[in-house]
Amino acid sequence: MKQTISLIKADVGSVGGHTRPSTKMVETARQTVQGAIEAGTLSDGFVWFTGDDIELLMIHDRGPGDETVHGLAWQAFQEATRIAKAENLYGAGQDILKDAFTGNVHGMGPGVAELQVKLRPGESFLVFTCDKTEPGAFNLPLYLAFVDPMNSTGLILKKEMKRGFSFRVMDVHPDSGGRTITLSTPEELYDLAALLRDNHRFVVEGIYSRYAPDEQVVVATTTRLHNIAGKYTGKDDPAMITRVQGYFPAPEEITQAFTRAHYVGGDARGSHNMPLMPVTMDTPASSNFCIPMVSCLAFSLNEQGRLSEPLDYFAHPCWDYVRQKAYRKAEEMRLQGFSGPAMLPMSELEYGGITDTLDALEERFEAPE
Ligand SMILES: [Mg+2]
Repeated sequence: MKQTISLIKADVGSVGGHTRPSTKMVETARQTVQGAIEAGTLSDGFVWFTGDDIELLMIHDRGPGDETVHGLAWQAFQEATRIAKAENLYGAGQDILKDAFTGNVHGMGPGVAELQVKLRPGESFLVFTCDKTEPGAFNLPLYLAFVDPMNSTGLILKKEMKRGFSFRVMDVHPDSGGRTITLSTPEELYDLAALLRDNHRFVVEGIYSRYAPDEQVVVATTTRLHNIAGKYTGKDDPAMITRVQGYFPAPEEITQAFTRAHYVGGDARGSHNMPLMPVTMDTPASSNFCIPMVSCLAFSLNEQGRLSEPLDYFAHPCWDYVRQKAYRKAEEMRLQGFSGPAMLPMSELEYGGITDTLDALEERFEAPE
């Protein structure tokens, strides 16, 4: 039997700024998921938070886009919103863009990543969840993990991995209509790099095994971007599910790609370039300029659709070194203030005030004598 892994996430309010949902909000979401497990709607589930986002991981056999499962997530976010409003939290209900549920949450605000899998022996997967950054934050790590043998030696050790992978990449330009392109590696890796270098415009939506073409390895929460293409103006804190082991990269190959603490768009006011810091689950956004964050939970999944306990990958002491590195990189960039690469290009600035300022200055420019 195929199992479906559904990850649905939303920011529906947080304590004292864009920090973290309140304990009561998370507990309510947890009770909603637990109730669905007891009712048999889900075979299992897990709830946590990353910065201001509540993450709902749900396992079932209903397939992607199922109305009952999406309705359950909608209900969980509605209840958490009610609490956030009662507690007068910041941004209460911010990712709930519609009033009424109409079958699934696509286009309604929450981010969705869903993967239907025919279980392999030892089926294992990782869930990466980010806060204070954009979907393109995964571009470099996914390139390194699935394309580069300097990062993933499995590409030369496993004949199944040597066959390569296909990347489906989405164009998130407001005029693109959410169009996608599929590129196959290793033949087209330079073409892939040419797209993925632009984190603001091109983002990885999914990755497929070429050894087992029906098998999707990675799915990312670009679903929301699809639905609001044409009016996308800001950051969507991304999340992704990646299957690991066997003929897919090992978890340590995928997490290795995050040791660079590479610079991504996001942080304070979603307007800067800052390093992506690996953090443990349930980490609030940092008070120091909202450094972009990523957490990673590993799970095993059995034939009954039951999850193992989560392994919090970035809780291991070796990641303390990467966190220090990320902070040093952040400090260097912040010393640069507003100048040059410290801030995003004008097309990406979410907070419109600077546009008004430049418009006002426009008429004061004088032509040369
Ligand atoms: Mg967020």
